[in-house]
Amino acid sequence: MAGYTPMIQQYLTIKADYQDAFLFFRLGDFYEMFFDDAIKASQELEITLTSREGGSEDRIPMCGVPYHSAPNYIEQLISKGYKVAICEQMEDPRQTKGMVKREVVQLITPGTVMDGKGLTDKENNYLASITAFDDQTFGFAYNDISTGESRVTLLSNNFDEVLNEIAVLSAKEVVVASNFDGELQKKMRERDVLAISIEDNSSIEMNFAHLLEDLNQVKLKQTASRLFHYLFRSQKRSLDHLQPVTTYQIQQYMKIDYYSKRNLELTETIRSKGKRGSLLWLLDETKTAMGGRMLKHWIDRPLIQQSEIEQRHNLVDVLIQHYFERQELRENLKEVYDLERLAGRVAFGNVNARDLVQLKRSLMQVPFLKQILFGMQNEQMNEIAEKLDPCEEVTDLLDQAIVDNPPLSLKEGNIIRDGYNDQLDQYRDASRNGKSWIAQLEREEREKTGIKSLKVGYNRVFGYYIEITRANLHLLTEGQYERKQTLTNAERFITPELKEKESLILQAEEKCGELEYDLFTGIREIVKEQIPRLQALAKAVSELDVLQCFAQISEERRYVKPQFSNERRVVIKDGRHPVVEKVLNTQEYVPNDCFMDCEREVLLITGPNMSGKSTYMRQIALIAILGQIGCYVPASEAVLPIFDQVFTRIGAADDLISGQSTFMVEMLEAKNAIANATQNSLILFDEIGRGTSTYDGMALAQAIIEYIHERIGAKTLFSTHYHELTVLDEDLSKLKNIHVSAIEHNGKVVFLHKIKEGPADKSYGIHVAQLAELPAELIRRASEILAELEQTDAEPARVKVVLESQVIEEKVEKPAEQPAQLSFFDEPAAPKKAEPTTKEKRVLEK
Ligand code: ADP
Repeated sequence: MAGYTPMIQQYLTIKADYQDAFLFFRLGDFYEMFFDDAIKASQELEITLTSREGGSEDRIPMCGVPYHSAPNYIEQLISKGYKVAICEQMEDPRQTKGMVKREVVQLITPGTVMDGKGLTDKENNYLASITAFDDQTFGFAYNDISTGESRVTLLSNNFDEVLNEIAVLSAKEVVVASNFDGELQKKMRERDVLAISIEDNSSIEMNFAHLLEDLNQVKLKQTASRLFHYLFRSQKRSLDHLQPVTTYQIQQYMKIDYYSKRNLELTETIRSKGKRGSLLWLLDETKTAMGGRMLKHWIDRPLIQQSEIEQRHNLVDVLIQHYFERQELRENLKEVYDLERLAGRVAFGNVNARDLVQLKRSLMQVPFLKQILFGMQNEQMNEIAEKLDPCEEVTDLLDQAIVDNPPLSLKEGNIIRDGYNDQLDQYRDASRNGKSWIAQLEREEREKTGIKSLKVGYNRVFGYYIEITRANLHLLTEGQYERKQTLTNAERFITPELKEKESLILQAEEKCGELEYDLFTGIREIVKEQIPRLQALAKAVSELDVLQCFAQISEERRYVKPQFSNERRVVIKDGRHPVVEKVLNTQEYVPNDCFMDCEREVLLITGPNMSGKSTYMRQIALIAILGQIGCYVPASEAVLPIFDQVFTRIGAADDLISGQSTFMVEMLEAKNAIANATQNSLILFDEIGRGTSTYDGMALAQAIIEYIHERIGAKTLFSTHYHELTVLDEDLSKLKNIHVSAIEHNGKVVFLHKIKEGPADKSYGIHVAQLAELPAELIRRASEILAELEQTDAEPARVKVVLESQVIEEKVEKPAEQPAQLSFFDEPAAPKKAEPTTKEKRVLEK
């Protein structure tokens, strides 16, 4: 180090503390990077790599970005998972002898982005922390620095639960101890975690005890401390908007694992990974950014407490009944800005005058919102209205203090209203008087000299001057003004009086600027004290927004309020897949019923490809989820149990990242369902066993069905193209066959998308191939082969599982230890025609 220049030495000293970040080292108008940072940054940002002398033999690699465009570059790096340490000059170089003092003022990381493009209005940006305890359990905490919200929970020794939370939150960055298991870190990266940061709960005193007040367990405290240690260490500034951390339990919500969420496309689609086409996209009629985030949150965590769910339904009901009030509400909500993030920026100190005007305008909506809600004359609605705190003190202060259209910059003045502060008014008077004196001077001098084009102007270098065009110069008497500047067409003059006034004006303006800035900071501090109130308001407004969104969608799309059954009964009349219905247009969508109860727990669905099997299965799950988040459901009538968990194995979403084979993923997902499902769960298995050879696949499919039927009793929809499985209803009393109907018309297959009782009786594969316009010759040949196969008894052997009764009765915990016995029969079974019972007929055929 000794050989380097003092500046490079300073750089290296600071860099030593920020090994894992790009150090943006402020040099005048640039942020410079050196050494490896420079090489890497020049590649990542596609900027020119140069070098400079630094005292050593070799030149030092260097690259830099102008300070005013730095935010852009920082965002690029953050979105790639890097961190950026911002190192500023802490002294004015003009007033410093020797090295300017420099310090890192903020560490920006993927999980702590405060503003800019990295933040999407309708999404939270979460930083998570994980603590692994000796008893194999995990503590999990998270925070959104832009809103100040933090929560913490304890999870079991199953790391999948942790991964699930990471996925639910789309946490970008996770903080762990330095000895955290490397394998587990890898798994987190596979779930799109951009950065894993180390924080060993250093002994440095940090002032966040008040945030942990509500926690009564050491493990929870330890986990939340890790989070805050990291936050405070990296942000190095006031985080007064952080709300005390609250606890939660994942058991409070319906459990939907990561794969099932993806399969059901709750918040993003599988293919594009975008919001469009997801359930969230369909539902999002929220009017505020906060409401949008709350909606996503609700979808991610459906409720399981009947009373809580019904409370939401009742509020939706009231909002549906009050159409006009609801429209008014929506208009008003549109005017409410992101109170949560505004509060965050107030605390952070990067709020400007325009933000505060937005805050005022938002708060001014609150009395109207209250009035509308009270007008609905409903007790539950009144409770929400009560929770809406208009924060009048803040509104009044901002109204008195800040002009309606302030400039963006805080240094230019023109922020504070006249009449707010006497001193400021005096300075402004002085400046205004001075200016009118100058205007007066211009008039007088024109008269005196008779030069109509004489004018008084101002520029930064010379201040105020009198300008006279060359053509008129002869009209001046010698020595009338003092010559100051000569231009091509004009001369500029000054007078002692003019200069005197000028200095009065400039002084007053300078003082105005300084005073306005001070007053503004003062106002910001006052608002800061009200942050908890603003946050409580934000929460109430978000809830209201989501509820009105549910009402809007439910009415528009003709959804009904579901009833909940304690007898684990599912009765859905005219159920629709909410997203497919929207995309297809309501007229084209074929609604379908679903009936399940204790006698009818497993529905085996057969039918040709593309007939609508998986759409039907998904629609059942989506209806259940919609119901449990508090929305109405796409059906004409619905009775539902409250599901504790939803499991799906639906094709297509093959896990490419982890490099596992489709079949392995299939089996892992099946295992997950089988190991965790209860009789209150919903399982959707689409074509399980397809990924391996016919015998294998069919045997496994059957064994899985039997296992669920005998041991779990979860409501299960199982689609299969193994027609052989349809005979299972002979042995499994609670299994029923259903199929999706299709008809042949002029030798072509026409899908009716209608669910019917009984198994499908013919394979339509060849017709689908025909629809896909494979060559006619090939289709003919396939028909021939099929005919031959049908004659030569070449159908795969029927699989039959014998479940020994004593095995069934034993309560077996682990599926793998007691596999059901399989025995293969040689004789293919004749397809069985199932007749619907009268009860089923009643339900299914309207
Ligand atoms: P499968 O799982 O049987 O191969 P899908 O469920 O993927 O079939 O459905 C295939 C297509 O049929 C879907 O993309 C959808 O456009 C259409 N479809 C499915 N169900 C319906 C329905 N009930 N009404 C109208 N169209 C439907």
